[in-house]
Amino acid sequence: MSKPKYFIDSHAHLMTPYRVKGGIKWIRRAVKEYEQLDLTTPAGELLQHMKTAGADYIINYFYPLQPGESREINRWQREFADRHPEVIPFASLHPGDEDKEEIIRDSLENLKLTGFKFHPYVQQFKILDPGMLPVYQVLQETGCPVNIHTGFSKFYGRESLKDEFLSLLSRFPRLKIIASHMLFGDMHLSEWDGILEQYPNLFLDATNTLSFCRPGSKLTEQMQKLIGNYSKRIVFGSDYPMGMAYPVKILYDLLEQVCPDSDSFEDLAWRTAADLVKLDLA
Ligand SMILES: [Zn+2]
Repeated sequence: MSKPKYFIDSHAHLMTPYRVKGGIKWIRRAVKEYEQLDLTTPAGELLQHMKTAGADYIINYFYPLQPGESREINRWQREFADRHPEVIPFASLHPGDEDKEEIIRDSLENLKLTGFKFHPYVQQFKILDPGMLPVYQVLQETGCPVNIHTGFSKFYGRESLKDEFLSLLSRFPRLKIIASHMLFGDMHLSEWDGILEQYPNLFLDATNTLSFCRPGSKLTEQMQKLIGNYSKRIVFGSDYPMGMAYPVKILYDLLEQVCPDSDSFEDLAWRTAADLVKLDLA
């Protein structure tokens, strides 16, 4: 990739050894190259791989699979980011946690984590689960960014999240939402224009979607049009170590191949993400 001024990998999963191992094993079913990555690679080494490939900063997501794990995970995120200042750590919680509002307060006020991440498929909850509504309400008031997995329903063998996600937007229009993977496979790309116009606090995370929009593909032109119009609302990352290709540089290089011009390239490479997480890069 010709070098942008900075590069922020806006979507990574650097986690504990147990969860990294589970993640790599899972992605190996779809992306064979991950056989080359040792299952026991420590998070610090995974981070180094991304930095060597060109990442200056990494937005890191680590969510609990069971109720009761959130506090430990959020503390791990804080400690990992303290050791590695290039890591921008997001908190999470589980819909089954008892003290969700207290977890939010602790994550944002004490641990100073940047935002929240949820994965309705892997964490097995409905976006509009009644227990989650107060969570969105509180997060909306704090103004912190909230990344939610959307899309790839067939890959997960689950129902599309489109309707629930659109209801979430209409019920919490001030919530600063980042739609991971842009409902890819579950909604036509052309529908985003209208939705982005209607919800100014909505951002899209093009992680894993650009791999399907390489030059020469059916979706290239539509994706380029969307990026050309809304690059201030789109971020991009690798999903490392469970993304669509390995080594991670293959994914980083996609950005220049797909972005229609240098301005949108800089936006997706770092500017939009820096703005979103309030990272002061001039
Ligand atoms: Zn992910």
